[in-house]
Amino acid sequence: MSDLDLTIITYGEESRRAEIALRPKIPPVIRGNISQLNDWAFELIRYLGIDVKHIDNWGCAICAKPARETHYQIASWTHLPQPKINIYVNHLCAAAGGECHKQVIGQSQAMAAMSGMPPPPEAPLPMPSGVEMFPLAGSCAHCLKDETAATTSAISRCSGCKMTSVNCQKNDWNRHKKVCKTVKSIRWAVWPEM
Ligand SMILES: [Zn+2]
Ligand SMILES: [Zn+2]
Ligand SMILES: [Zn+2]
Repeated sequence: MSDLDLTIITYGEESRRAEIALRPKIPPVIRGNISQLNDWAFELIRYLGIDVKHIDNWGCAICAKPARETHYQIASWTHLPQPKINIYVNHLCAAAGGECHKQVIGQSQAMAAMSGMPPPPEAPLPMPSGVEMFPLAGSCAHCLKDETAATTSAISRCSGCKMTSVNCQKNDWNRHKKVCKTVKSIRWAVWPEM
């Protein structure tokens, strides 16, 4: 297959979630090579992190306070004829040992124990350079300034993918353009769905 079936399921406050479908093209030279495909996919996921975080004014999935950090889990089926990766993202008020972070880690360990499978590896989003604290989820993906986090209804999203919040899109385009064209759909929901 020439593309990766990538689904990002992101969870925020009060069981709110979004499901984002992406179809990045797999570079021809690595098609069929699972180890190279994995390396390429995990690099891509790190690259996507900022876009996935800055799509809305998420609240913490546990305490509903404004979210600044994320907890990622990855499930991958890159050996299949149609390579597939799911990424589960919990938006959190604070990570790195915070109470809400501990709770999310506990939940994922419990789920892994029930399924009899080892918990999937975690890929934490690194602290962006030039800032003292992780930016708000709803802030601009380029300048990361808290004051750019608008109210949910007024958030300004990229006109191409309708996903990433970008107030200074022209400056961010070099970074974001690679992600923008891979986004196929975004579905907003409250879980469980009524
Ligand atoms: Zn919290
Ligand atoms: Zn900005
Ligand atoms: Zn875009």
